[in-house]
Formats: sequence, C-alpha cells, structure tokens
Amino acid sequence: MSTPAKYGLWLALGTLWCTLAYVLPDFADNAIGGLRGWLTMVAYVGAVGIVSGLILLLISGSRWLTAILLPLYMGIGAVVSYYRVAYHATVTPMVIEATLHTNMGTVSTMTSGWLIVWVIVNIAVAITLSIYRWRALPLRGGWFISVAACALLIVYTTCNDRLSNSLHQRYPLHIIHSIKGYAAQRHAATLTREKMPYHNEHMADSLDMVVILGEALRADHLGLNGYERQTTPRLSERRHLYSFSQLYSEYTYTSASVPHILTPADSTHTERTYTHHSFIRILRDNGFRSVWLSNQDMSASYAPFIHEADTFIFPHKDKSVFVFSPWYDETLVNELAQDRTTYDGARRLWVLHTIGSHWYYNNHVPASEQYYQPVTTERVITLNTPEQIINSYDNTARYMDLIVDSIATLMEDRIAAIVYVSDHGEALGEDGQWLHAGEVDGMHRPACLIWLSDKYAARYPERAAALEQLSDKPCRTDIIYPLVLRLSGIESE
Ligand SMILES: [Zn+2]
Repeated sequence: MSTPAKYGLWLALGTLWCTLAYVLPDFADNAIGGLRGWLTMVAYVGAVGIVSGLILLLISGSRWLTAILLPLYMGIGAVVSYYRVAYHATVTPMVIEATLHTNMGTVSTMTSGWLIVWVIVNIAVAITLSIYRWRALPLRGGWFISVAACALLIVYTTCNDRLSNSLHQRYPLHIIHSIKGYAAQRHAATLTREKMPYHNEHMADSLDMVVILGEALRADHLGLNGYERQTTPRLSERRHLYSFSQLYSEYTYTSASVPHILTPADSTHTERTYTHHSFIRILRDNGFRSVWLSNQDMSASYAPFIHEADTFIFPHKDKSVFVFSPWYDETLVNELAQDRTTYDGARRLWVLHTIGSHWYYNNHVPASEQYYQPVTTERVITLNTPEQIINSYDNTARYMDLIVDSIATLMEDRIAAIVYVSDHGEALGEDGQWLHAGEVDGMHRPACLIWLSDKYAARYPERAAALEQLSDKPCRTDIIYPLVLRLSGIESE
C-alpha cells in the first residue's frame, strides 16, 4: 500500500473512532421515530465528526504533535463521553466552574471502574495510532498539512451558520465554548452597576416573594386566558390569581429577555441591563434573603444578577438545551421547599429559572403529566405533525400549572406573592415557523401570572385591587421590575 493510501486509512480509522466514541453519545438520547429521523441524526453525527477528522489531520502533520496530543484528545474524549452516557451530562460553563472548584474527595466519588477502563482503552487506541504514524507514515511537508487543516477547521466551524450550534455544543468544541462562556460570566459579574433610586417606607416586615421565570410559554395557550383546552385546571381555581394576558416581550430569546425582565431596563432605556442592578439586589439590600434556583444555565447576560443573590442552586448544572434527556422543574419546587424549611427568615426571595416549555417539550414533562396525546416522537421538530407538536407544547403549559400551583400551596400559610413571567413566547406553526428567537408574533407574547396568598391579599387589599385593574391592559415586560418591587413594598423612582 502506498503512503498516501496508508495515511488516508489511518485518518479514516481515527476519525471513525472519534465520531463513534465521542460524538455519537451526544446524540444517543435524541428522540427518533422513523427513517428520516435516523438519516438526519447520521448526517448530524457525521457533520460533527468532521471536526475531529480535521483536528486529527492537523496534529498528524507532525509525529511529535501526534504522540503528545492524540492521547490527550482521546483521553479527554473518553472522560466526556463517559459522563454523557452514564449521567446524560454534558460540558457547560457551570461544569467548568464546578471542575475548577472541585476537591479531590468529590472527584473520587464521581469516578468508577468503567470510567478508568474506558480511558485506558482510548489512550491505548491513541498510542497505537501514534506508533503507526511514527513508524509507517514518513510524511514530507507535514507542516503544510497542519496549516491547511487548521485553515479548513476555522472555515468549517465558523462559516457554517446552520451547523453552528451542532458543532459548538458537541465534542470537542463545547469544551472551548464552555470555557469562553465561563470566562464571560466571571467578567460580566465583576462590572460595576448602579442601583435605581427607590423608597421603602411601605416595606413588608414579613414576606415570601417567588419570581418564576418561565421559558417559551405563550399567554394564549393558557386555559385561564380563554384557550380552548383547559391547560390551567389548578390555577384557574385559585383566588387572587391575576393573568397579564396582554404582556409583550421585545425580545424573543432567553439571554436578551431575562436581563430586561430583571432590571429597570425599559423600551427607552434598554442599556440598563448592562448598567443597573436587578430587583434581586434591591430586595437583598432591604433584608430579603435571596436564592436563585435554576434549571437552565448561567448565561453571561444574566450571570451578574445570579451573583446578586445570597446564594444560587443549580440542580442540573450538567444539562444544556442540547442534552435531549429528561429533566423537570419539580426539582426546583423540591429545592424551594427544602430551602424554605432550612432558612426561616422574615423576608425571603426565591427566583426560579425554569426549563418550562423549552424544546424538546416531552423531556420537561414527566410521562404521567403528558395529558394531550399523541405527543412528538422526533427531536427534529419538522419531522413531527403540527398536532403532535401542539399536544406536547400544551402538556408543558399544563405542567407549568402544576408547578406554580404546588409553589402556591407551599406558600399558603404566609404573606406571600408569586410572579410568574415567561421570558418570551413561542412560534407554533405560524408562517411555517416553530420555536423562538425570531419575529413571529406568538414569540412576543409570554404568559404572565401573579398570585397572592389570602394573607397577602387581606393585608394589602389595595395592591390586589391594582393588580385586578392592571392585568388586562396591554403592557411590556418592562413592568416586571417595578411590579416585583411594589409587591415587596418598595417604590422605584
Ligand atoms: Zn427563553
């Protein structure tokens, strides 16, 4: 066999190994119902595998580089793929942070015999490939191969908008992406901000405030807003429940809309998301013990506000929206219930960042709560029927009803208020569009609900009356900041 043929075979085998061992596990929990779904997944796996192929091509230009970097590349790949398969865990900025701050005791509880065996197997494969490269592939002009591969790698990973997320959220680029994300969060949290002036003569001496950030839930898919399906059977029965059914969100994706909701930013002062503190800081400064509970990641755009809280809890820090295995918001309710019993303060604030109605819908609603059938069977949204998609979506609305209702039950014995606001809406087939981060009207129409406990409504009847008056008026998510403050007895100036 000629040297180019041997080299091609070496490269093909190495790429195949990396693709099957490190890329395929990332797609293993995708819902696939039919042949088109399988073919699409194979195409995605192949497209991501090409990145590993180009990296192999790059380092193979030098036998020294191969000997040093190939075992490292395959060793890290083995660790990442092990956690992906065994725990459905991926690499996120929160995982990078946890890794940097984890002591060896914790590491030892997370390793297993299988992990060690899998790492040894992969390093053995890498060493075998390196020896073969060293002895049997006397390449001339190796540096040229490396430079060309490097250029191809840059072009392939940056000039491909459609594949951008697929590439950057999977091995190996998700490691670089997460490290950059972590650095951006740290940097954002160190920037100085100012507080909007306020006065606090009407501060509640005792209050439990819960702010729930929903995800992609549309107002017009709630039974209590007149939707043909009763997706809110529990909340519809509650007293002192106010639905802001005409709320408009300027932004249609999480990283832009969440900072706008939390801060005094409004349509004429959008820059306040970068210059001002959120209501979390104002409440904390006024004696509220504050906790951020999250089922999503910590984006740099709202990391500063998470750090404003006394503490934050991320029960699923190893999940990203590119992990298609189940996780549920009831975890946050359990965390809240536990935190409530362990910290018995007079003024308390919990901010819950839910995964809510994020695609893949079925993965965020337990099977026992999937009320509308048939549900989706394919992760690639367009391979499902509109009926399946809307059934799955409406199940998330009904599950939100369960989540918010169970938090209200927890709070019933206190002077308490819950503000639920989805960060944005969702397209459900209008103009042939689905999901969010676009300009379909439904994406701009988030659900928003406020509940007051009986004790709250009895103590502050004028606030209950104001909510009643305000709730059916058209308004923007700008109102959430002053509203949370006002419900806490603080007036923003
Ligand atoms: Zn969102």
